[in-house]
Amino acid sequence: MTQTAVVDHFVAGVPLSGVGERLGPVYDPALGVETKKVRLAAPADVDAAVAAAAAAFPAWRDTSWARRQTILFTFRELLNSRKGDLAEIITSEHGKVLSDALAEISRGQEVLEFALAMPQLAKGGYSENVSTGVDAFSVLQPLGVVGLISPFNFPVMVPMWFLPIALATGNTVVLKPSEKDPSAANWIAALLKEAGLPDGVFNVLHGDKVAVDGLLGHQDVQAISFVGSTPIARYVYESATRNGKRVQALGGAKNHMLVLPDADLNLAADSAVNAAFGSAGERCMAISVLAVVDSVADDLIDRIVTRMKGVTVGDGRRNCDMGPLITREHRDKVTSYVEEAERDGSTLVVDGRSVKADGAADGFWLGPTLVDRVSVGSRIYTDEIFGPVLAVVRVRDLDEGIDLINKGAYGNGTAIFTTSGGAARRFQRDVQVGMIGVNVPVPVPVSYYSFGGWKQSMFGDTKAYGMQGVHFFTQEKTVTSRWPEPVTGDDELNLGFPQNA
Ligand code: NAD
Repeated sequence: MTQTAVVDHFVAGVPLSGVGERLGPVYDPALGVETKKVRLAAPADVDAAVAAAAAAFPAWRDTSWARRQTILFTFRELLNSRKGDLAEIITSEHGKVLSDALAEISRGQEVLEFALAMPQLAKGGYSENVSTGVDAFSVLQPLGVVGLISPFNFPVMVPMWFLPIALATGNTVVLKPSEKDPSAANWIAALLKEAGLPDGVFNVLHGDKVAVDGLLGHQDVQAISFVGSTPIARYVYESATRNGKRVQALGGAKNHMLVLPDADLNLAADSAVNAAFGSAGERCMAISVLAVVDSVADDLIDRIVTRMKGVTVGDGRRNCDMGPLITREHRDKVTSYVEEAERDGSTLVVDGRSVKADGAADGFWLGPTLVDRVSVGSRIYTDEIFGPVLAVVRVRDLDEGIDLINKGAYGNGTAIFTTSGGAARRFQRDVQVGMIGVNVPVPVPVSYYSFGGWKQSMFGDTKAYGMQGVHFFTQEKTVTSRWPEPVTGDDELNLGFPQNA
């Protein structure tokens, strides 16, 4: 009998089985079978991971900028040369096609490259002679141990939104990846070690709510960066702030793409298909609602349907456009939304339930699905479905489109397709959403801007990466100093409040 492989924690530079006895299943979604188990941490395992990070902090904090940068630069080079191996791990546990797995690594690598400029980015300020003989300056110092908690849909990119900045600024890290696709985190930990990162500076703790709660309540964890669904993001934000921690908690989404009659309809159709069905719709920036002005709706839908017929679904290791969903339960949940929409009187234009996938019969398949004329009160419209389902709402004009988007609970991403600069400008000014695309369907900001939504899509006031990321992982200290010149001797005694002089 062959033994199922178990994904261990990675603590203080070595794999750790820990004391927790619970194990979770890890599937290969394209095969539809469990291929591994993952350890689910017990509270004592959380303590061990945090203790390792806390023990490593003083020396890492005191490591020179030059040395920290050298290690991260070496990590960048190793990652670049071996990212094909990492992509295979992602595909085997998440299901996304290999090209998409490579793209996610590249987007994560962008943040690493941004962090390679950290000595410049994290410079403080210096003002000479703010008062006679007095200088003032500020420095950005690390926080200590920080916890990263990530979702299943980007097992590399999302941890990499935070990890390089946290490490470059001198923090030590405990990453709690999704238990659904845990192996990529261990691969990254081993590569960081190979790059020269001292043991304990980066630790991986696997688990579920027990592990998360352990980090949220741990007195030695200074900050939490969370990415996941909105209910859990809210919970993490409220729990961690109650425990006095700094928190950024990025949540779910329901992203609209608004198409005006003057848009390039071929570009809009290409973009809708790519943004709705890429990674099987399991992206927080996926387009899940197409809001189209009625006069061009039928024409645009025809063009989208033509393209959807060309989308190949199958095992991500083969040459397909779209892979399976993450688990059988999730696929069934997504399917239930399609069934409900059908019952509610929406028009099912393309039904992905009958897809013929190029993969194992038991894979968690659902093909691209298009549902027209959905009602804004229906669950297919209001809920984040997180699957390859595009819902169409017809609107009268730009105003109705903006109003529709602004009434939504989420505010992660949105896009407008138009050739009118005036319409685009009004859209970008008035829409209550954090990340806007103008003729760009998935407007994930580059690494030197910051990523984060509004409303129910984010809790906390500091976004991920860019300068907001640098500020999240550092605290500013200001120093006001006076060095009497030896010849001047002691100052007169003065008990007054310091004033400019
Ligand atoms: P999830 O909320 O189920 O899980 C996220 C993390 O929280 C995981 O590490 C998980 O182990 C942990 N977790 C799950 N249940 C918990 C509980 N009850 N208590 C404490 N921790 C718990 O999310 P998911 O299904 O892994 O990922 C998909 C979700 O993530 C979608 O909602 C998607 O929109 C969102 N997401 C958001 C962004 C963003 O930047 N806003 C990016 C990627 C994904």
